[in-house]
Amino acid sequence: MTLSFLIFSCLVVVNSFIPNSNFDKIMKHALCVQDSDLKIEVVIMDINKSPKITESGFNMSAFVLQTPITTLFYVYVDPTLSLNRSIKILSHESVHIIQYVEGRLVTDTIHEIIFEKRKYRTYEIDYYDRPWEREAYGNQNRVAREVKKLLK
Ligand SMILES: [Zn+2]
Repeated sequence: MTLSFLIFSCLVVVNSFIPNSNFDKIMKHALCVQDSDLKIEVVIMDINKSPKITESGFNMSAFVLQTPITTLFYVYVDPTLSLNRSIKILSHESVHIIQYVEGRLVTDTIHEIIFEKRKYRTYEIDYYDRPWEREAYGNQNRVAREVKKLLK
C-alpha cells in the first residue's frame, strides 16, 4: 500500500482558525504518517489568543492542549511561522498528540506531567531533558520529511 493511499483513508479532521496557512494540511499529514488508523479532531488556533497556561519566560511557537474529550485536541500556533518552520513545529506537536492518544503522556496540572506512568514536575526538569520532548525532537524531522513529500 502506498503512503498516499494510507493518508487518503486516514480519518483525522483538522480545523484551522488561522487563515491563509497550510497548518491544517500539515497537521493532518503529520498525524496520519504516524498512525493511519487515528480518528481524532484537531482545532488549530492563534497562539496569541491562547489561555495563559505556558511556563513563564518560555517563548513557544506552538503547544498542544488536551481537552476533556479524548479525541479532541487544540493546537495553538504562531500564525507568522514560515512554511518550513511550521512543518517542523507542527510535526513536533503531532508527536505529542500521538503520545496523548496512546495514553503515554498525561497533563495533570500545568506543573505536573505523567509520561509512561512516571510523574514529572516541570520545574524540576529542564525542557530538553523531558523524555516526551526528547521523543518529539527525535521524531519531528522524520515526520516533517514525510509531510513535505505529501505537500508536493
Ligand atoms: Zn514539545
